[in-house]
Amino acid sequence: MNLVDAHCHFDFPAFDNERDSIMAALAKAGVDRMVIPGVRQADWGQVASTAASHEGLYYCLGIHPWFIDEHERPALDYLAQELRAAPRNCVGLGECGLDRLRGSLDKQQWWFEAQVELARDLDLPLVIHSVRTNDEVFDTLKKKRFQGPALVHAFAGSEQQARKLTEFGIFLGVSGIITYDRARKTTEAIASAPLSSLILETDAPDMPPAGVEKGRNSPTRLPEILSALVKLRPESEDVIRHALRDNVYRLYRWRESVDKP
Ligand SMILES: [Zn+2]
Repeated sequence: MNLVDAHCHFDFPAFDNERDSIMAALAKAGVDRMVIPGVRQADWGQVASTAASHEGLYYCLGIHPWFIDEHERPALDYLAQELRAAPRNCVGLGECGLDRLRGSLDKQQWWFEAQVELARDLDLPLVIHSVRTNDEVFDTLKKKRFQGPALVHAFAGSEQQARKLTEFGIFLGVSGIITYDRARKTTEAIASAPLSSLILETDAPDMPPAGVEKGRNSPTRLPEILSALVKLRPESEDVIRHALRDNVYRLYRWRESVDKP
């Protein structure tokens, strides 16, 4: 069962000149799809053109909490327009969200809520960045009555937060975080979460797994994250691979049967 990298910044300059070789390596490693999130309006064109450059690439458009200050309100109208006109390989809104370690949380909240509303109104899957704000993310989705599929990408948090999110139908991104011994709280949360809520991702070039240099993460590391996950879980690797595939297809609403070879 092939793997999907549900969240990778493949448009970033770190991958310039390497995309063809990475795509070839991914095909060999059994990774046949990847989703590229958008983080700022200035990059959306590059995100879309990167996604159009190879088979199996998909994308989302959104405004990341780190970059809200370079946007004005009309960026939201433009985002709506771009999402409405987007081709089939545009599969959601994101990434957007909250980050307690960077900038003003109040300002971020305004941009997050606006994007949750937009995803709700356009009926699009939502990709969320959440750093020490899992409770606020949960409250916002609830307040805005968001009912579509949503991913808290690169989930880091407690078992209790994982339970709250997954009971609300939110997917949790399993990233290189689980390859670190010191990430015990998150690892335990991922170990005990429902298998049907887990999504595999690299967040490359960020979030390097243990032993990888900062900024040098690559989607080719996805199988290492899978191995770390298999060690944590009671299910067999085969069962986990099938579930991960099924989960990401539900998240991005891909319709093709997951049983197809
Ligand atoms: Zn990201």
